[in-house]
Amino acid sequence: MPLPPASPPRRAPFLTWKLLPLLAFVVLGGMFWSAKTVHQDREKRYRHQIEWELQAISQLQSKSVAEWRERRLSDAMALTDDSLFAHAVAQWLRRPAEPQASHVLDRLRTLQERARYTAVYLVDAQGQLRLSPGDSTQGRLPELEQQALRHALAQAQATVVEPRRDAFFAFPFFSLLAPLFDGMEPVGAVWLVSDVRTTLYPLLENWPTPSTTAESALVLREGSEVMFLSPLRHHDGPPLSLRLPLGQGSDPAVLAANGERGILYGRDYRGEEVLAMVSAVPDSPWFMVTKVDIAEAFSDIRSREWLALSLPISLALLFVGFLAAHWQWRARRRERALKTEVERHMRWLENAQKAASLGYFAYDVAREEFFMSGMASQIYGLPADGRMLLSQWVRLLHPDERAHILAVHGQAMEQRTPLRIQYRLVRPSDQQVRWVEVWGEYQRGEDKDSVSQMTGTVQDITERKHAEEQLARYRSALEAQVRLDPLTHVANRLALDEAVAREWNRAMRGNTPLSLLMIDVDHFKAYNDHYGHVAGDHCLQQVAQALSASVGREGELVARYGGEEFAVLLPDTSVPQALALAHRMCGAVRALGIEHLAAEGRQHVTVSIGVASIHPAHLVVPAGQTRKPENGAGFPGATEVAQALFEQADTALYNAKKAGRDQVMACPAPLEPLPPPTRTA
Ligand code: GH3
Ligand code: MG
Ligand code: MG
Repeated sequence: MPLPPASPPRRAPFLTWKLLPLLAFVVLGGMFWSAKTVHQDREKRYRHQIEWELQAISQLQSKSVAEWRERRLSDAMALTDDSLFAHAVAQWLRRPAEPQASHVLDRLRTLQERARYTAVYLVDAQGQLRLSPGDSTQGRLPELEQQALRHALAQAQATVVEPRRDAFFAFPFFSLLAPLFDGMEPVGAVWLVSDVRTTLYPLLENWPTPSTTAESALVLREGSEVMFLSPLRHHDGPPLSLRLPLGQGSDPAVLAANGERGILYGRDYRGEEVLAMVSAVPDSPWFMVTKVDIAEAFSDIRSREWLALSLPISLALLFVGFLAAHWQWRARRRERALKTEVERHMRWLENAQKAASLGYFAYDVAREEFFMSGMASQIYGLPADGRMLLSQWVRLLHPDERAHILAVHGQAMEQRTPLRIQYRLVRPSDQQVRWVEVWGEYQRGEDKDSVSQMTGTVQDITERKHAEEQLARYRSALEAQVRLDPLTHVANRLALDEAVAREWNRAMRGNTPLSLLMIDVDHFKAYNDHYGHVAGDHCLQQVAQALSASVGREGELVARYGGEEFAVLLPDTSVPQALALAHRMCGAVRALGIEHLAAEGRQHVTVSIGVASIHPAHLVVPAGQTRKPENGAGFPGATEVAQALFEQADTALYNAKKAGRDQVMACPAPLEPLPPPTRTA
């Protein structure tokens, strides 16, 4: 059964799916590159813009702080330069009378209200508080202000005390001491006090855009530290409480105190990455640090970055997803095609097996179990679950052959030789006896000495076996026919010759005599002439039956030698025994009473018989030979013996004819085989 051809494979399109990923990679790479370039360019511009904004804010705040400080100084300098006021103060200090006091007080009050000082005091040259627009005039200047007073009087110029906390006031303050001179004589000073919370700090809070991290700080270097003068957005402590050592890392305040200026990137007091603008406040020891967290400053650009990246990324993901789906679809399609192909082959195999009644099986040695194809199950007459235990198999073997089959299987397994066996089984499904032929091979297990399984085929050959048996019967019948005389139904010449050879061999082995009778119907020509050939044939049949009825021992054979002559082969029969049988045969033919009036002086059909006999023991051994009955060495061959027997019997028959017919004559001389025919050159 030829396997039908599979459908031809489809040709791949020019732009195969193998090229597509490469193309997609190039396109996506190009997109990434251009997105990155655009993004970098925009980031640079955005960074410049942020830095510029920060710088502008810083400059603005720095300028307003510088102006604020300058105004405080100019107020103080104006007081120092006011000689009338200084003279009035000197007079009042010498004679503290009411008119001068109110004049001085008015001047101080005007100053406080106009310039919005938190407190203004008149102090004498020793630092004693003497007069104030406010209530309290008790006590002396705090220590730092005492020092500043001395400095101011000595230098004759206003002296600043930087913002700080002191027990004198409940608020952080910035103060100046404006020295007063009456002519050349120092008379004291005016102490101008500003609450920095309401005067200075608001200047730093002026931030143009809303931000959660941006802040400006005023810082001042003090020895080996930098001090934050202004409050901090992310520091819980009160203003003026945070100090950082100058060696501390990259805080912009520290960098400012160390001389850095301009735009800086560093980490602030919280450790956060910040972008800062650092500048010195003109005409002061202060530095302005304006900063914003990088995370906030560049959050916009980060989100844009993500936006720029997300487009190619989503496209790439989409494409990868599409490719994966496509590959899966192709794999499924290929799998389906393979499955169909396998199913087609399996169907073909199944049909081929059915047509050949051939099934396959695997026998698991360890589990003692067969796994069978559908056809094998059908052959064994078992349900089609494909399994059969060893015990089940043994039970269905034909009882007559069971032992033999098991022995053959055992031998094949032991010697690992291929197994080929035909046997009968009794099919359990319908109790039919079926012939099967099994071809199998044992496979080695992991351990070289063991056998793991046997695989093979099983074929139902019952029909073939029946045909073979029928053929054998027909052949044997044909063979019998070939050795039978068609007219008389006794053996023919061929059968006689074979029997002589066979019986001579047996005679040699058994050292027994072999005798032969030659029988000829008397005056048969005359019978034919008188009664016709049909009657002649019938006569021959009757004679043959009579002769056959006279023999009965195993090996005795009656044959038609030719025409109206018969021969009787008598194994293990001596001459006297042969003579006796010959006489019985003569009598038997005579007793048939077949009318024969054509021959002179006779009434019925008769036969004449010549008897010959040979005995292996009586034969002369040729010179130089030893006799071996088992293979015939030292004996004449079957052909020579047959020739000698027939010739001697014929001679005896001739003698019987000559003596008047209807009688038996034996060969007169002991029978010696004839010499082999001489070969002529
Ligand atoms: P004798 O007593 O000397 O044997 O004389 P005979 O006539 O029998 O001798 P012969 O050999 O001359 O004759 C044999 C005859 O047998 C000749 C032939 O016609 C006849 N014969 C041979 N075969 C057949 C046969 O098959 N059928 C018939 N009807 N006759 C046969
Ligand atoms: Mg004859
Ligand atoms: Mg005759």
